[in-house]
Amino acid sequence: MQTQRLRIAIQKKGRLSKESQALLKKCGVKFNIMGERLVVHSLNMPIDLLLVRDDDIPGLIMDGVVDLGFIGENELEEVRLDRKALGEPCEFVTLRRLDFGGCRLSVAIDKDEQYTGPQDLAGKRIATTYPQLLKAYMDKQGVPYSACMLTGSVEVAPRAGLADAIADLVSTGATLEANGLKEAEVIFESKATLIQRMGEFDEDKKALIEKLLTRMQGVIQAKESKYIMLHAPVDKLEQIKSLLPGAEDPTVLPLSAEKQKVAVHLVSSENLFWETMEQLKELGASSILVLPIEKMME
Ligand code: ATP
Ligand code: MG
Repeated sequence: MQTQRLRIAIQKKGRLSKESQALLKKCGVKFNIMGERLVVHSLNMPIDLLLVRDDDIPGLIMDGVVDLGFIGENELEEVRLDRKALGEPCEFVTLRRLDFGGCRLSVAIDKDEQYTGPQDLAGKRIATTYPQLLKAYMDKQGVPYSACMLTGSVEVAPRAGLADAIADLVSTGATLEANGLKEAEVIFESKATLIQRMGEFDEDKKALIEKLLTRMQGVIQAKESKYIMLHAPVDKLEQIKSLLPGAEDPTVLPLSAEKQKVAVHLVSSENLFWETMEQLKELGASSILVLPIEKMME
């Protein structure tokens, strides 16, 4: 069932929703999310946003019900493995890995327990929301265990006597620590990713997806880049250039008031560290500015 408008699924509420929405907005997609609506129409592009629970997004893509989706790789892989085991459709296309939603699925155990390797988990009951990812890892290690499926409050399972260990998402580790647990093994590294359904797309949709991806590239690249400006003594120009990250081809301009110095402008793919700025200053550079870049198109 193809619709004229491009359908994009995003998490309604949670850790991925704000950044998914912000990225679309930075790509020029205008929309207003109000109230409890499931579908939100873009005001300036033929795009509809579907606001759903993240658990539903992989299935919506794999069933071809929506065109694109923003999802955490952990959830995506969990659903893929589950569907594969059930013989249900589980294919999709990854369009691009994103720079948010970073976390890892880790096995954690009591902080006072000894841990030397995965074999120490043999025979343990492990509570998790990700039984497929856990099984894939434990099978690969050849370690027998039993699973306890919980959709929430996984971190309290050991204290509540429901399990010996857990496999849960970790970013800082603070939740584990607060529950008297320690990270024993990382079993899956995850980031948010943009996925597309399989199958044909009409020409208009293909062009729109292409446009969104190009803009996304520009937004993400800009975030990682800086615009650097400084005044450099002409006789130290080469030394100064060698200190600047990605300065193969800077713009060098004369200064009206000062003949011994030139202005150097460049886009750098990295930030400039304080240490480098201090070294530049020692070489006689002045008026050193490091500016953020909002958008880029090459
Ligand atoms: P929903 O109500 O949509 O089902 P949820 O409770 O399943 O939400 P969130 O807690 O919002 O999900 O997390 C969504 C995704 O954010 C995770 O699947 C994961 O990819 C990512 N994430 C990033 N950091 C963390 C973290 N510290 N803990 C949990 N998830 C994280
Ligand atoms: Mg969820």
